[in-house]
Amino acid sequence: MHNKTLISVAVELPLKRTFTYKVPETLLEQVAVGKRVLVPFGKRVITGFCVGFIEKTEVKSLKDVLDILDDEPIFDEKRLKFFQWLSSYYFAPLGEALSLACPSWTNIKSQRYFFPTEELFDYQEKLSPLSQALFELILAKKGISLAHLLKTFKGKSIYNAINRLKQEKLIREEVKIKGKIGERTETFASLASECNYETFKRKAPIQAKIIAYLSEKGETSLKSLRNELGAIDSALKKLQQRGLIALIQRKAPRNPLEDILPQKLSHKLTYEQEKALSAISHGLKSNAFSPFLLYGVTGSGKTLVYLKAMEEAVDLGKKAILLVPEISLTLWPVKYLTAMFPGRVAILHSGLSDGERYDEWNRIKDGAVDIVVGARSALFAPVKDLGLIIIDEEHEPSYKQEEGVRYNARDVSLMLGKMFNLTVVLGSATPSVETFYNAQNNKITPLHLTKRVQDRPMPEVELVDMRKESQKSKVKSQTEYNKIISEKLQNLMLKNHELGYQTILFLNRRGFSNFLICNGCGYTFQCLNCNVSLTMHKGAGVLKCHYCDLSISIPEACPKCEGHQIEPVGIGTEQLEAEVRRILHKARIGRMDKDTTRKKRAHQKIVDAVDKGHVDVLVGTQMVAKGHHFPNVTLVGIVMADTSINIPDFRSSERTFQLITQAAGRAGREAFPGKVIIQTLNPDNFCLKLAIMQDYETFFKEELNNRMELSYPPFSRLINLRFEGNKEEAVKVFANKIKRFADRTLESSFKKDITILGPASAFLSKLRGKYRWHMLIKGNNIKSLHEFAEKILCESDKTIHSINLVIDVDPLTTL
Ligand SMILES: [Zn+2]
Ligand SMILES: [Zn+2]
Repeated sequence: MHNKTLISVAVELPLKRTFTYKVPETLLEQVAVGKRVLVPFGKRVITGFCVGFIEKTEVKSLKDVLDILDDEPIFDEKRLKFFQWLSSYYFAPLGEALSLACPSWTNIKSQRYFFPTEELFDYQEKLSPLSQALFELILAKKGISLAHLLKTFKGKSIYNAINRLKQEKLIREEVKIKGKIGERTETFASLASECNYETFKRKAPIQAKIIAYLSEKGETSLKSLRNELGAIDSALKKLQQRGLIALIQRKAPRNPLEDILPQKLSHKLTYEQEKALSAISHGLKSNAFSPFLLYGVTGSGKTLVYLKAMEEAVDLGKKAILLVPEISLTLWPVKYLTAMFPGRVAILHSGLSDGERYDEWNRIKDGAVDIVVGARSALFAPVKDLGLIIIDEEHEPSYKQEEGVRYNARDVSLMLGKMFNLTVVLGSATPSVETFYNAQNNKITPLHLTKRVQDRPMPEVELVDMRKESQKSKVKSQTEYNKIISEKLQNLMLKNHELGYQTILFLNRRGFSNFLICNGCGYTFQCLNCNVSLTMHKGAGVLKCHYCDLSISIPEACPKCEGHQIEPVGIGTEQLEAEVRRILHKARIGRMDKDTTRKKRAHQKIVDAVDKGHVDVLVGTQMVAKGHHFPNVTLVGIVMADTSINIPDFRSSERTFQLITQAAGRAGREAFPGKVIIQTLNPDNFCLKLAIMQDYETFFKEELNNRMELSYPPFSRLINLRFEGNKEEAVKVFANKIKRFADRTLESSFKKDITILGPASAFLSKLRGKYRWHMLIKGNNIKSLHEFAEKILCESDKTIHSINLVIDVDPLTTL
């Protein structure tokens, strides 16, 4: 038996090391690796994770653990190893990596509060103006949190002033603990004694109705009583006063799936689907790491293979996780899964309330579910007996987390699979170049679905050269400067609407216009915090930054020349919606983008409306382009195919090809054949040409050649080092200094394995007030790349603290 009095704790703070705490005798019984502990940290109280026991320590004044927060460990030693790998691979603190296992809503944090004392003191003469202002606010509010004070006195250093007030005994400090989400309860009503509702009928008809209902159905929640019988509250009260009914509180977990209508699976597997399924089930039965790429054209029925594979897994006593790239895409599989596994499906994504996520997470942890469906972070759900992970649309960039632990859920799922002997299925019609390359080299087993279900034809795709369109429109009317929808697309939309079919229009830019320009002096409206233009949102009457959310009202005059010739340039989904309304005034139009889906369940409402045929034309960003299966959509218009082509990033061709092929794939998925119009200013671009033919494999070959020539992934591995700081010159100087260190280190110990590109100012040279420079390191051996980056990180830690070094391993973009 080892000594359990000293434990090592990882905290969710940007600190690389772990900390040692003493376990008081009262908690010795409960302490275990994998449990969360409440510990003092500086002046705060925070949540940490117990990650091990320690024999002895040199540190003298050890602090005590205050509390142990879990009855059962959240992770075991084996899972801990996985999180340790995650932490070291992505250069993230262990505490941050572990917090992925246990999202922040279960974190308990303390807050410092200040209250006025009763002390009589003539403060006005002795205090500095800042202390005085602080004190007056604390007095006025009768107590206030430190966070609130910091917000109010933004940019001022208030700690000294606070200490002064404390010394003068004008205020006292208290630590309050917050952040615990309680269990949800509901009130249920039942009959307290036998009674005859006939006697009530004439005098109190509502009371009679309640009694009749309860005697037939038994105990019922007040919520469903109200739903069934309408306004009943005063009648209920009277019944309760008479002692005829009893009200009782019961635990009632929040259920995010309560609005979902389960749907029975009636489809039969095709020969190709059958073959794919049997390979996956072979993997499941082998109990060994079995990675697959399910590569199938759009409409080939990948979802059916996923569902059947999950059924196989559950039959074998295993559990499964299905990841989808967008919240709205959880709805499709969940409809079937809730019918296949009633009550045994959980859903996890950021569209749920904190309470819902908390309850779902607990159900998963307690083993009450077999299937978890969710966005990328659902990969870390505490699923016991996990056997299968499915990553749908594995090429999607939304699987990469771009802050905190910068992991890619697709890559991490493969490591999880290796460590826990799982079957991992990556699915896509347009696999990422890396994944397809790995499948060709048999690191991942390819499973190919070459045909659409029931041999339905692929949609017919046509390119429209918008350069010619704008010439045409100039002849017709001088004022029509901004042609959005070509004649061709417009005619097809009209015809499609007449025939009663649905249309999807895809434009990967939200808002009304791309930016505003003053025609008098050329002034453009830029964000104050970022080096990007503000986008006009006409409906909301504001100019908005899509990176930092800065928002200002649309100005009437130009701030530079005071002229009134301000004009919007470029189009967004808001304007596209208005244009569709102009063309098809009687059509019912839906819009799906970040602006229309902020509210809870908003995704679900839009998808349901299209599914039920309540929407004729759906306009939207990439949210409409992927994964959806709307049987009645026969026309897809890609309004501006060029938005992503010209972005200076080595993945921009791949991204463009994927987006267009995915969007095109929404057309003609059931009985009616589909048609796709791609509008572009670059009709000769190779990825557009190949997207017309839906020819992934030729695209892959061309792209692979490009990557080989430039030695980009999959022919190398990348780590991006980004330097961020408030002063541009300081960032530049620091980046160059690190570059010189890197050159010396390379010379002495790494030689020709590694190439350094940069440093240079990033494409997005300023974001959220921080200037950005970056340096890309490239090499064939990820191990030596890691060692090299580690050396640079150590060097950077030694020097200035005003500049932040962000390390992005296997970056998706280098903007
Ligand atoms: Zn101007
Ligand atoms: Zn901004």
